[in-house]
Amino acid sequence: MRAFEAEQQYFHRAADHLGISSNIRKLLIVPKREVQVQVAIERDSGEVATFIGYRVQHDSSRGPMKGGLRYHPDVDLDEIRALAALMTWKTSVVNIPYGGAKGGIAIDIKQFSHRELERLTRKFVDEIHDLFGPDTDIPGPDMGTNAEVMAWIMNQYQKYHGFSPACVTGKPVELFGLPGREEATGRGVGIITLKTLGRLGRRIPGTRVAIQGFGNVGTHASKFLHESECKVVAVSDVSGGYHRPEGIDVPAALRYTTAHANARDVRAKIIIEAANGPTYPDADAVFDERGILVVPDILANAGGVTASYFEWAQNRQHYSWSLNRVRQELDRTMAESFETVWATATERKVSLRTAAYIVAIGRVGRATVLGGSV
Ligand code: GLU
Repeated sequence: MRAFEAEQQYFHRAADHLGISSNIRKLLIVPKREVQVQVAIERDSGEVATFIGYRVQHDSSRGPMKGGLRYHPDVDLDEIRALAALMTWKTSVVNIPYGGAKGGIAIDIKQFSHRELERLTRKFVDEIHDLFGPDTDIPGPDMGTNAEVMAWIMNQYQKYHGFSPACVTGKPVELFGLPGREEATGRGVGIITLKTLGRLGRRIPGTRVAIQGFGNVGTHASKFLHESECKVVAVSDVSGGYHRPEGIDVPAALRYTTAHANARDVRAKIIIEAANGPTYPDADAVFDERGILVVPDILANAGGVTASYFEWAQNRQHYSWSLNRVRQELDRTMAESFETVWATATERKVSLRTAAYIVAIGRVGRATVLGGSV
């Protein structure tokens, strides 16, 4: 099963609960715009190489579209489409005024020099600079990209459009970035973990945690959970066979294992999805049947985009918050969103994933109907 099809299954399950008409479903599923551009650069060797750059803008009924830019060999249109839709639901679950988008280039960054990555990023911006911006679509970091890449994006965008730090988020703190943005996704995962343990009546100190993937999200999540007195017992992929300095691609790692079989081998009682789309629907069903609680990606890892929202808002106000204030606001947003999803799951007797989709689709659906966009 491909990523977009998996995402749609989750969507329809929640849409059935909400009794959403097929007309509205069509509007909510089909991405608003999909762009595919040729990104040609000169390699350090002097050879010209071309790559495909993608940007999928999924839905804008709740605000400008928002989502990361991914540099990873597995990137293709289907994956970016699925991830763009996830961003629509994610920004809605945490109730920040955005729609969803995602972009990427299918490259292995290990094969590129620093200067090549800069050329590639700037060239990509040359190709799509008219399609994004602070009021339309705001890129941010994702797998394989970081604050430096975001700085190149801002700089290149400004060559066309003038001063505009809010055109991209996840920038270096010294260059219109936000203190606390880098740790935010992992910290959010940590907050959601503590809230889940609390709701299950489990004692936090000594709780054993295994972290699959040890890049930006995994490292910050483990740091936060360690400081919260959880016992982090494993910090790598279960098979031990994956190593990527910038972070393990959990969906890809799962795909590499025998088709869907590992859902039966998981020994955890609770799974917090820090990656995007790490669980396919059939594995989700196995977890459900085995009584394993899954906290879905669109809630669990929403801390990153929430901090991006703070960065964007502050760039537009020319005002900056302290790290403490960022953490407080982030913790509050994550905790409130968790409670809303938990209450929905309890009321409707559905999984946390379906509950998160119900909350998200409900908000996007209402905005779509109220905006009268057909
Ligand atoms: N890559 C982040 C995510 O998957 C979002 C990046 C951003 O727009 O801040 O949630």
